[in-house]
Amino acid sequence: MKRILVTGGAGFVGSHLCERLLREGNEVICMDNYFTGRKSKIVHLMDNPYFELIRHDVTLPYFLEVDEIYNLACPASPVHYQHNPIKTIKTSVLGAINMLGLAKRTNAKILQASTSEVYGDPEMHPQPEYYWGHVNPIGIRSCYDEGKRCAESLFVNYHESNDVLVKIIRIFNTYGPKMEPDDGRVVSNFINQALQGQDITIYGDGTQTRSFQYVSDLVDGMIKMMATEDSFIGPINIGNPVEFTMLELAHNVIELTGSSSKIIHMPLPSDDPTQRQPDISLAKEMLNGWEPKISLREGLIETISYFDELMKTNSINKLLNV
Ligand code: NAD
Ligand code: UDP
Repeated sequence: MKRILVTGGAGFVGSHLCERLLREGNEVICMDNYFTGRKSKIVHLMDNPYFELIRHDVTLPYFLEVDEIYNLACPASPVHYQHNPIKTIKTSVLGAINMLGLAKRTNAKILQASTSEVYGDPEMHPQPEYYWGHVNPIGIRSCYDEGKRCAESLFVNYHESNDVLVKIIRIFNTYGPKMEPDDGRVVSNFINQALQGQDITIYGDGTQTRSFQYVSDLVDGMIKMMATEDSFIGPINIGNPVEFTMLELAHNVIELTGSSSKIIHMPLPSDDPTQRQPDISLAKEMLNGWEPKISLREGLIETISYFDELMKTNSINKLLNV
């Protein structure tokens, strides 16, 4: 049985990862400061004697004995990471230093949840891992993009200078159940707007693209990356290469929810990448047969049904005043 630390374990991706690692027979320690995470995402795991929860901010050191670390702590939605940009940088950079220090001391293997945002507004399409990116270092996304880029550098340097066993994955837009309805990211926004009959807010003309990955495909990729041989550190892209415009996404959501919502256009935030699509050749080669299995349609159906249930429960709770 391995003892595994998941930082950011009460967040969207982290909560799925904790569930899966427990199911596979590991002992899991979830560390979170609940900035964007919630206990409700992991409360059902609390009865499991092999699950532990620690309220802690990764910008401060922490000492415990573990075999593996998945470092996910960091807000991921632009709205959240721009809320306190300095804190976002500290979380990425100090969080990486503290967790790498822990990995060094305990000889643990550590995986960094990096991001497609390291490519910025890419001039190369699709994006392979050897592309260095096109990032505005002083723009509104820079706290996240540059924080994650610095974290990648720290991971590589702890590996080279201190022999720490590291893995770096670059995650492309991921969605699914357990996202927060007011998270601000596009899939949760569109679905919740459609379910409530509100206008669907497309930023800009809606021709910008993203490639959407369902969360179970990401979790598979993370676990497979952690299991690769020690000499392979990445970075490696984990995403679903099927690319959609935001207009196409909106139409899909409207059709699948049967909503009468109208599409409206709002100003495009600055530095919003115009296109994004992962080149996943390396992941297919290195991750023991990994490739995304869930289509956008299948994933949206699951996610819509999750938000639909959540909305009903919330309105019943409101009626019951609980
Ligand atoms: P999320 O916001 O749902 O989860 C992040 C978690 O980290 C939350 O539980 C939050 O409370 C916690 N956290 C934030 N700052 C912390 C701190 N200082 N100390 C301790 N905990 C802290 O986001 P997510 O979508 O689950 O993303 C998880 C990771 O994956 C992030 O590192 C993100 O950058 C990366 N990622 C996600 C996506 C995606 O599309 N979901 C894409 C690229 C990268
Ligand atoms: N977006 C949108 N309407 C929304 C939220 C987001 O059109 O209500 C757009 C956003 O401008 C971006 C894309 O959807 O072009 C993806 O945004 P998200 O915040 O999900 O992730 P990221 O920009 O980090 O990929």
